Amino acid sequence: MDRRIFLGTVAASVLAAAGALVIGDEVGRGALTATPPVLPTSRSHFVRRAVPDVIPAAADLPPHFFPPTLTKHPVPSGTITGLPGTGNYVALTVDDGVSTEVVRLYTEFAQKTGMRLTFFLNGVNASWTDNAPALRPLVESGQVQLGNHTWSHPDLTKLSSGEIADQLTRNETFIKNTYGVSAKPYFRPPFGFINPTVSAVARDLGYTVPVLWYGSLSDSGLITDDQLKDFATQWMLPQHIVIGHANFLTVTECFDFLADLIKQRQLIPVTLNDYFG
Ligand SMILES: [Zn+2]
Repeated sequence: MDRRIFLGTVAASVLAAAGALVIGDEVGRGALTATPPVLPTSRSHFVRRAVPDVIPAAADLPPHFFPPTLTKHPVPSGTITGLPGTGNYVALTVDDGVSTEVVRLYTEFAQKTGMRLTFFLNGVNASWTDNAPALRPLVESGQVQLGNHTWSHPDLTKLSSGEIADQLTRNETFIKNTYGVSAKPYFRPPFGFINPTVSAVARDLGYTVPVLWYGSLSDSGLITDDQLKDFATQWMLPQHIVIGHANFLTVTECFDFLADLIKQRQLIPVTLNDYFG
């Protein structure tokens, strides 16, 4: 088996051409635009190394799904929308978990392929309790990371400071009790809606890194397979943080497509903890 990791050769111009960040990726919400991430061109942060021998379910993994070996970047000090630096890394982040079945199938997808994912979960959704036995080993191994998406998905900019804190704390407690890990310092404000009050309250709780995105599968609501594949083709690119959702079955019908796309583009999926630390 070829165990080399293919590091990126795609120029920063691809990123520049990829378009604007879209915020507000939820049902019926309008999109806001924001500045694309600043992506330095230096490749000095990355080190070519052999992939270690001990890899979960290594027998069938294509090379691009191996746990990455890279020199980690410092944990960001504020909001991120993409992965700094250059390389062929991509962070697929999956939110909400309205559907137990979709979370179960995402878990199977990770088990089968070695895909590395970051879930931004809402503990109010039973999916995270129902699937905890299957997900916990993946969380413990680091293949799957859990981030805080608040307990029940409110627009935090409409809440008092106390209510914002309750949303983050209740979800943190759920994640700790259910999975034995902390989601800190990464949180994603529902709908991508954030303001200085939200940032300050979160920061005081140890949530210092709001994680937005640079490309979306746009599947918080129901879309078709073809639509999702088009969004994936548009946004699954080097150094992007891509947002998806565990809400509707559409994405589960596109897992093979996503895996093939990652392989064709020689992308290396990473969790946030893979990349930062
Ligand atoms: Zn959400």
